[in-house]
Amino acid sequence: MSASRTHLHLTGNTHRPEFMLILGSSLTVIAIIAIVTFLLIREHAYAMQTATRSATNIVQLIDADVLRNVELYDLSLQGLIAAAQRDDLKQVSPQIRHLVLFDRSSTARFKGDLLLLDKYGNVIADSSRVEPKPGNFADRDYFLAHAFNDDTGMFISRPFKPRCVCPDNEQWRISFSRRISSPSGEFLGVAVASMRLAYFDELFKSLNIGNDSTLNVLDKDGILLAQKPMLRDNSIGKSFGNRPNVVRIMREGSGSFSSVSSMDHRNRLYTFSRVGNLPLTVMVALSMDEVFATWKRTAYVISGATGVLCIGLMWLALLLCRELRLRQHAEQELAHQAAIDPLTGVANRRTLDAVLNREWSRAHRSGKPLSVLMIDADHFKAFNDRHGHQRGDDALRVLARVISENIRRPADLAARYGGEEFAAVLPETDTAGALRIAENIRAAVEQLPPFAAGASPMTVSIGLSTSTGQPNQSLENLMYTADKALYKAKHQGRNCVVSAQA
Ligand code: GH3
Ligand code: MG
Ligand code: MG
Repeated sequence: MSASRTHLHLTGNTHRPEFMLILGSSLTVIAIIAIVTFLLIREHAYAMQTATRSATNIVQLIDADVLRNVELYDLSLQGLIAAAQRDDLKQVSPQIRHLVLFDRSSTARFKGDLLLLDKYGNVIADSSRVEPKPGNFADRDYFLAHAFNDDTGMFISRPFKPRCVCPDNEQWRISFSRRISSPSGEFLGVAVASMRLAYFDELFKSLNIGNDSTLNVLDKDGILLAQKPMLRDNSIGKSFGNRPNVVRIMREGSGSFSSVSSMDHRNRLYTFSRVGNLPLTVMVALSMDEVFATWKRTAYVISGATGVLCIGLMWLALLLCRELRLRQHAEQELAHQAAIDPLTGVANRRTLDAVLNREWSRAHRSGKPLSVLMIDADHFKAFNDRHGHQRGDDALRVLARVISENIRRPADLAARYGGEEFAAVLPETDTAGALRIAENIRAAVEQLPPFAAGASPMTVSIGLSTSTGQPNQSLENLMYTADKALYKAKHQGRNCVVSAQA
């Protein structure tokens, strides 16, 4: 009991290194995870930025081509109108008239016929033949738009399929038209040019946007004019103007946002722009899966590697902790063994010397008394001779226990001085107190039952000495006087307590 108490006094805090190790590796793991997370988030934002930039480039490329193309159509229309309003054309032959009317019209690849309609919608001139084929287009949306509005400017129609029975009448077209007005503003007719929507397919052919993304052209009402690749058959000419994403695109004009497509319910990145001042919008819908495909692969690899690294680090730290614990345990065991007497379990001579020195210094500083008991078994040689060393050892163990049981304060110490001799260190205890404890020990030993049949009861003689903290005293002198007192007790007939200060 006293020995383990002493042991705790002599060794320091043993849990700190393990705690620091676990704390250090945990902080390292947290730092690694934080850095990797930060890098992955940054890469994610960068992937989004890159995709938006390339989509914007594609949109602008399409924009520029469409704008240039529509300008050509408008020039043709304006040339046709200027020629049609010349009075002198009425006198010339139909061939010359045809030549003059369509002199300024270009022949683009996807251009359909250029027509001149009178105010009733009847065809009065046709770019494809000198004698126009009879026809009436008064019901077309563009004709009505011009007939009832003199400020429409160039009008782009809804997609339609031609009425004529011609080889390409299955192909979708749109038309560009302008109103012909008299100088007083009266409606005289319409100049109209059609364009096959195959133009967009041709334009999109060279653009690579990935397998799961789409290129789209919409008119001002959200009607789909072109799409690559086609998500559904028969989508051309259909209105998507009520879809939330299209509503937003029409409202914002140009920009970029990500949202779920109402067509295929996939998450998409929409990038879009109005074509100049025209009622046309070009929109690229990139698949988010494709945008983040590379990032995802990188994220999986880096997260996996980081996870393995962190687990490895923590595992190493735990392994090291275990080793530390084992080492500390072994050190504690060694320190314990070095501090106690193996036979009796009380402090050994080494510990006694260390504690005596420490308590001596403390008593000197505080000026408080320090008492020492020297306890020696009486006639122990005879006991050994009579009952054997085995019994003698048992008796020493019991004696050590009795001494320990009679000193109660935490700072008190019982130790084996050597052979059958023990010592007790009693800090802050004056002679009277030490005498009481010595007497208790002596009486308790005397009360012990005989160790062997026919053996006389064991007794001890105790010499005690107290230092009062005077500057001229020394530890050697304290021990010497205690020893002298013990010698005196033996001389007085043993089984008694003698104080050096008496
Ligand atoms: P006194 O009353 O004068 O002290 O007589 P004593 O016989 O006790 O003193 P002495 O110094 O002559 O003898 C001490 C004996 O203690 C000698 C030895 O047999 C015994 N002894 C010393 N150490 C041990 C031990 O570790 N175990 C056993 N069994 N006996 C021991
Ligand atoms: Mg003795
Ligand atoms: Mg002795």
